[in-house]
Amino acid sequence: NPIKIATVIDMAINGIKKSHKEAEIDVSGNLDLLLLGDKLQLCRVINNILNNAIKYSGQPTVIKLHIGQVGNYAKVSITDFGIGIAKENQERIFDRFYRVPENEHKYLGTGLGLFISKQIVIEHGGNIWVESKVGHGSTFNLTIPLSI
Ligand code: ATP
Ligand code: MG
Repeated sequence: NPIKIATVIDMAINGIKKSHKEAEIDVSGNLDLLLLGDKLQLCRVINNILNNAIKYSGQPTVIKLHIGQVGNYAKVSITDFGIGIAKENQERIFDRFYRVPENEHKYLGTGLGLFISKQIVIEHGGNIWVESKVGHGSTFNLTIPLSI
């Protein structure tokens, strides 16, 4: 059953706002796209990525979330202006329990958020990847099949 992407994004942001009242999340793009998938699971993915974006940035900070369409997929891009991720770690952050060694004592976490997120996205027939530069920030991109 098709779910409006706006519903998923709203649910995820409402969840974030409960623990991060100060968070500024700038949403843009096509909120009317209809997705093929599980609302709660997809919400969990967006929530994990937004949580990281806030956790690995200084306060106060702005997070940008953009929704576009690429072929038969919705593409969600979440950009932060935080600590960034070195090239050699960009694949490994999606591994189970992997945390960047240089930062693991500064931030609390288990290293499961992105592993779970990737599993959910792959199960939906989509993909997830990161573009990042240390000291500048990160953009997490994910694609989810559209319903039609
Ligand atoms: P949790 O299981 O609580 O989410 P976590 O945040 O450490 O713990 P992941 O969300 O899987 O685990 O992220 C894995 C690692 O990737 C993090 O420990 C961090 O080193 C790095 N990382 C993830 N997102 C970002 C980001 N937006 N900016 C910088 N580093 C990040
Ligand atoms: Mg995390």
